Amino acid sequence: AKLSKEEILALAAENKVEFIRLQFVDILGIIKNVAITIEQLPAALEGEIMFDGSSIEGFTRIHESDMYLKPDYDTFTIFPWENESGRTARLMCDIYTPADEPFAGCPRNVLKQVIKEAETMGYQMYAGPEPEFFLFEKDEVGNLTTRTHDKGGYFDLSPIDRGGEARRATVIALKKMGFEVEATHHEVAPGQHEIDFKYTPVLKTADNIATFKFVTKIIAMQHGLHATFMPKPIYGESGSGMHVHQSLYQNGENVFYDPDSELGLSEIARYYIGGLLKHARETTAILNPTINSYKRLVPGYEAPVYISWSAQNRSALVRVPSARGDATRLELRNPDPTANPYLATAVMLKAGLDGIKNKIDPGEQTIDNIYEMNYHERRARGIKNLPSSLSEALKYFQTSDLMKKTLGDHIHHHFLEAKKIEWAVYKRQVHNWEIDQYIATY
Ligand code: GLU
Ligand code: MG
Ligand code: MG
Repeated sequence: AKLSKEEILALAAENKVEFIRLQFVDILGIIKNVAITIEQLPAALEGEIMFDGSSIEGFTRIHESDMYLKPDYDTFTIFPWENESGRTARLMCDIYTPADEPFAGCPRNVLKQVIKEAETMGYQMYAGPEPEFFLFEKDEVGNLTTRTHDKGGYFDLSPIDRGGEARRATVIALKKMGFEVEATHHEVAPGQHEIDFKYTPVLKTADNIATFKFVTKIIAMQHGLHATFMPKPIYGESGSGMHVHQSLYQNGENVFYDPDSELGLSEIARYYIGGLLKHARETTAILNPTINSYKRLVPGYEAPVYISWSAQNRSALVRVPSARGDATRLELRNPDPTANPYLATAVMLKAGLDGIKNKIDPGEQTIDNIYEMNYHERRARGIKNLPSSLSEALKYFQTSDLMKKTLGDHIHHHFLEAKKIEWAVYKRQVHNWEIDQYIATY
């Protein structure tokens, strides 16, 4: 760790920190907090703080409900916003059992496991996410709406609106929390925004995504808005994705780069793409985990629908951005911001490593726009579809050995159960669209 226990205690005292949030995410990627007072910080840093895991959905069985929070010292961050009762800091935690073993239901432990595997192969993964989100207004009584009051479009600068203000305030807060924000802009749809932060080692990337989401929500709230990461809030408009740029390093060198190859991509990069594509259908449930996720994965909105790779066009699932040298990387385009950041990065890395281990050839890149091909053209080129619903994605997920190995039985099982219930409840609903479509005609 970069910070020692003493340094954290000193920082907390210097900054008059009164409360600490011990944070972790559950299986569905929702961030949870156990709040403690400053007096308990020394005990917390020793990993002595316990919580009742049984109160968290799908976490534990009742008889193993006591769980310990082991903070990662490097994640100590003081929230830049003031609170009347004093300042608050947070520590991201791993969850341990009373027997002092990493708890199998902790997504952060799962990611660490895959990182370890990459390390034994000699690789360190770097990842840079591009989360998109919407800022919506609330109505007179504070209910959430899908109204926006900006008229902005992609990269628009002119309308100085509340959404733009909130986004700028979010960037400032993130910077104070140690984020390197690389780019921020209005996205294609009204009320849609994007904030990109610099690539980091993948554990930090996952922590950053989890942090980013709650910071964006808090700052939006302070501006009287609601930030949502649901992938497709408005029919007929672009959805919100979370592309993830990824590369592998070995001894400080980017191993995806090979100046002597045709595209400047190494064999390792090609195999990594092969792994991502081969396992695309099994990983989709993790990368696109909500029913709404699949309303984004349709043609026409720069979101992927078909399993292919390309150095040219944005209809592909894996795109190779043009930068080479140290910046050589792959962009996986199906993830959306409802994905659990730890599980999402874990399954991407695992799929890529599997590609390397088994020398999986990704085949030719697809240069043409796949949205414009018909079924027969796609078939002739062997281009398959991503799952088109959560239900379909879960079928691939359920029988996937790679997913079981990556996530462990505990998370594989609990995730599947939770998502099957979600689908079963959804399936029985009568949606507004059905009423509009049928009530008069039949
Ligand atoms: N909003 C698009 C998506 O759903 C991505 C647009 C972009 O290329 O940034 O993935
Ligand atoms: Mg974007
Ligand atoms: Mg992108």
